[in-house]
This record gives sequence, C-alpha cells and structure tokens, in this order.
Amino acid sequence: MRTALFPGSFDPFTLGHQAIVEDGLKIFDKIVVGIGSNSEKNGLLTVENRRRLIEDLYNDNDRVDVSVYSELTGEFCRKIGAQFLLRGMRNTVDYEYERNMMVVNQMLFPEITTVLLFTPPKYVAVSSSMIRELLAFGGDPTQLMPDKIDINNYL
Ligand code: ADP
Repeated sequence: MRTALFPGSFDPFTLGHQAIVEDGLKIFDKIVVGIGSNSEKNGLLTVENRRRLIEDLYNDNDRVDVSVYSELTGEFCRKIGAQFLLRGMRNTVDYEYERNMMVVNQMLFPEITTVLLFTPPKYVAVSSSMIRELLAFGGDPTQLMPDKIDINNYL
C-alpha cells in the first residue's frame, strides 16, 4: 500500500491544502495529514481544533487520516509506515524551501521519497497566513476555505 504523509501546520487547512490531498489521492492509496504540533506557538487555531476541522472534512473518506505529531517528520513517516512525503508548491519561494527540506530529509531518511505537487493556478494566492491576516482585520476568509467549513466553529 502506498501511504503518504502530508505534513504541515494547517493553521488553518485551506482550499490549497484540499487540492493537494485531492490530487495526492490519485497517486497514493492513503494520505495521512500530519499536523506538526511544535508549530502550535503563535497559532490561530489550537492543534486540537486544526485536527477537528480536517477530520470533519474527511470523516467519510477512509483513505484520509489526520494525526498530530511532535517528532521529526521523517521519524513520524517511519512510525506510520509512510514511504512518501507529500508537499504542495505554489511558487518559487515554496520551491526553494521545499527543495532544501527534501535534501535534508533525503540525507536523514533515504528510504522516504518526497513528492511535490503543483497547486492549481486558482489557489496560488491561498495560504493559511492570508486567512489569519484576514481574520485579524475582521475580514471573511470563507472563500479561501474548503466548502462547508465555517472557521468560527474552530476558533
Ligand atoms: P508549513 O508550515 O509546513 O509550510 P503549511 O500548513 O503552511 O505548513 O503548508 C503545508 C503544505 O501545503 C506545504 O507543502 C505548503 O507548500 C502547501 N501549501 C500551502 N498552501 C498551499 C496552496 N494554496 N496550494 C498548494 N499547496 C499549498
């Protein structure tokens, strides 16, 4: 079985993240969305609420799981038996960052393959930080969030 870990902060999970999961499901049998719990500091949502939001989204899809982890991402891959690390890429800034992560992960966890998927063009400007910014100034981020998700239920 091909299992991929999709790691991130997911504070909160966005339409862009959803697009990566959707595309990833064409390649992998199972995707574990892994919320890195050390990213809780300065977060908008608690780690527990980030998990709840993603679980609400995928509770009828047994090919998508959600986990919170606090060890190195590669170590968590080994623990859950994920052979692949799935990441999304919007632009060259993401590319540089993801390439460096891949190089280090390759050194430390050579058996794990990083797979980078392009974000669909309509979501290149979507980010968790944009949603946090909108909320900070009283804006409505609904259009950047997956359908049926009301961020107010998770704040
Ligand atoms: P991190 O703090 O690890 O970057 P994020 O939750 O911000 O965590 O992102 C997790 C992954 O999703 C990263 O690979 C990031 O590049 C990707 N991602 C974020 N926003 C988008 C988007 N709009 N489209 C595609 N991928 C995205």
